Amino acid sequence: MIRLYDTLAREKRPFVPLNPKRITMYVCGPTVYGRAHIGNARPAVVFDTLARLIRHEFGEKSLIYARNVTDVDDKIIAAAEEEGVKPAVITERYERFYLEDMGALGVAAPDIAPHATREIAPMIAMIERLVGLGHAYEAEGHVLFSVASDPDYGVLSRRDREQMIAGARVEVAPYKRDPADFVLWKPSGEGVIGWDSRWGRGRPGWHIECSAMIYEHLGETIDIHGGGLDLIFPHHENEIAQSRCAHAGAPLARFWVHNGFVDMGAEKMSKSLGNIVTPAELLAQGHRGETLRLALLSAHYRQPLPWTETLVAQAKATLDSLYRKAGDGEGGEVDEGVLDALSDDLNTPLALSRLSALQGSALRASAQLLGLLQSSAEEWFQGDTDASGVEVRIAERAQAKKNRDFAAADRIREELKAEGIILEDGPGGTTWRRE
Ligand SMILES: [Zn+2]
Repeated sequence: MIRLYDTLAREKRPFVPLNPKRITMYVCGPTVYGRAHIGNARPAVVFDTLARLIRHEFGEKSLIYARNVTDVDDKIIAAAEEEGVKPAVITERYERFYLEDMGALGVAAPDIAPHATREIAPMIAMIERLVGLGHAYEAEGHVLFSVASDPDYGVLSRRDREQMIAGARVEVAPYKRDPADFVLWKPSGEGVIGWDSRWGRGRPGWHIECSAMIYEHLGETIDIHGGGLDLIFPHHENEIAQSRCAHAGAPLARFWVHNGFVDMGAEKMSKSLGNIVTPAELLAQGHRGETLRLALLSAHYRQPLPWTETLVAQAKATLDSLYRKAGDGEGGEVDEGVLDALSDDLNTPLALSRLSALQGSALRASAQLLGLLQSSAEEWFQGDTDASGVEVRIAERAQAKKNRDFAAADRIREELKAEGIILEDGPGGTTWRRE
């Protein structure tokens, strides 16, 4: 029996799906205008692990997992303008990077990846429905959700009105009846991406995208809705309000599951704070995706995770030890202790400590439930020799430069380049990345 902590109920509850043959899970995906950082990777890894557990428990085909791609957004429009390209150039580029980066972390592609720009009709239909029911109104080319029309607004975040207005950093705009009202549709000016609607040419607000796509692909009420803690308010609060008001009060999700932040020192890792580390950088430094995945799973998903070099080094050492103990084991049974730990609100730290007590095929089968030990031991340690080989040659090159033997230094650089390894000299020494 899987138990999950439900943010709405504020307690751990047994996970009993509505239909065990068609379990539905939706996770808010990336807004694709920049490279994902390791904090963005946490929900992808956490919900990938939960998906693996559900499939183990209920059957390979039991789950429909949807993760959206937000490919229309003001930040995307700004990035496109800056580069002088169409928004699609930006979104296609960063979606490709996102899938590559998450793939390297062992995150399987979701079953459905709805894109906002391809789902405008269901969004318009839902907005029209909300307007018709008196839950939304048009003003100056905008359509706004009327928070006052929903007596249950605030049920997820349990904030009072003042906190809500402050937390949402809502624009006080003259066309709003109430400062807490939020945008469902907004006008697009000349040359800005937009679609025709009865309210004029415009584009959807962010929140309506998830509500409309959930209804379109998964139905009125889904089993699990996931995302980062920062999405509870306003994003998920607004999703709940829109969906419930459009669907005669039917709940949007039966379990609300939220992961904690990745911290850098005392602060949350975030693009706006400029303190980000990306999987792409870490991989280029020679760390393997599985190491980063284990590091992300080393804390319980609801706890904050401080990201440090020590954490990554420990994850690597743990994997080395697990690969050694697993050997060439294949086809084993998942250990009950590991399964129990994961079933208890995805207790990955406990599951990892159980793993270290196993060996052979039981270890490999159990680790694979967490998306770990996906390579053979031989491949894993082979990768290592490569990395340490590069380090040795970087040291030789540094020595050659010190001896003013620049021809030798250049030769080492060229040899590595021929192997697809690029050296970068910086004030802190030489680093390397794969081409
Ligand atoms: Zn969402």
